[in-house]
Amino acid sequence: MKRMLGTFTILAVLATIGITAEQVWKVHDMDRPRPKVVTPGDWSTADKAGTAPSDAIALFDGKNLDEWAATDGSPTKWKLVNGTMESVEKAGYISTKKQFGSMQLHLEWQTPSVVKGDSQGRGNSGVFLMGKYEIQVLDSFNNDTYPDGQASAVYGQQPPLVNASRGPGQWQSYDIVFHRPTFKDGKVQRPATVTILHNGVLVHDHYTIMGSTFHGRPAEYEPHGDKGPLQFQDHGNPVHFRNVWVRELAD
Ligand code: MG
Repeated sequence: MKRMLGTFTILAVLATIGITAEQVWKVHDMDRPRPKVVTPGDWSTADKAGTAPSDAIALFDGKNLDEWAATDGSPTKWKLVNGTMESVEKAGYISTKKQFGSMQLHLEWQTPSVVKGDSQGRGNSGVFLMGKYEIQVLDSFNNDTYPDGQASAVYGQQPPLVNASRGPGQWQSYDIVFHRPTFKDGKVQRPATVTILHNGVLVHDHYTIMGSTFHGRPAEYEPHGDKGPLQFQDHGNPVHFRNVWVRELAD
């Protein structure tokens, strides 16, 4: 009885000062480790390339294509133009040499200022996470197409919450928080999720991805490793990219 009372007293004291079994730190605990200091980057402007935050992996800073290759590992035929990388028709996708799983991704993109074509034929490219999951890049400013294929859609799956597109020739941004899927015994164990801001506007709020991207048929998961390349699509339209960086995230 005395021992029980002692335990009860200790639990009551812990509860009073705000400690539960799950909480290691007291409220406002000055002994709690400080978050690492990160110097933020900035967006590009007309006369200055943007910069990555100090703890990011800069994949394209406007100076060279050293971090990139064709999907078969050969040198890419995409071009370096005025501090941007430009897709080239029939050059195929461009792929990072490094591989990534869960990540925060920032990129800026620009469709042609001279409007040519319509629907999916106008400023089409795409961001392939892990080489599998496409976030659509398209000129969706006064350009109707199927909603799950407009700009910032998870292609073939989910339209954006809103159409936050800027006009042709203007620079636009994606900020993407992606958590990779996990697989067990050839089946998806935990599906991937994605949160996306298009030009600072929320367009996907922790959306659960249904599987790899296909054209014209439903998505389904194809088991793959813990990491994959980041790829941009060549869809035959000249689209520019700049200020691309990744911060790897814990799973
Ligand atoms: Mg595309």
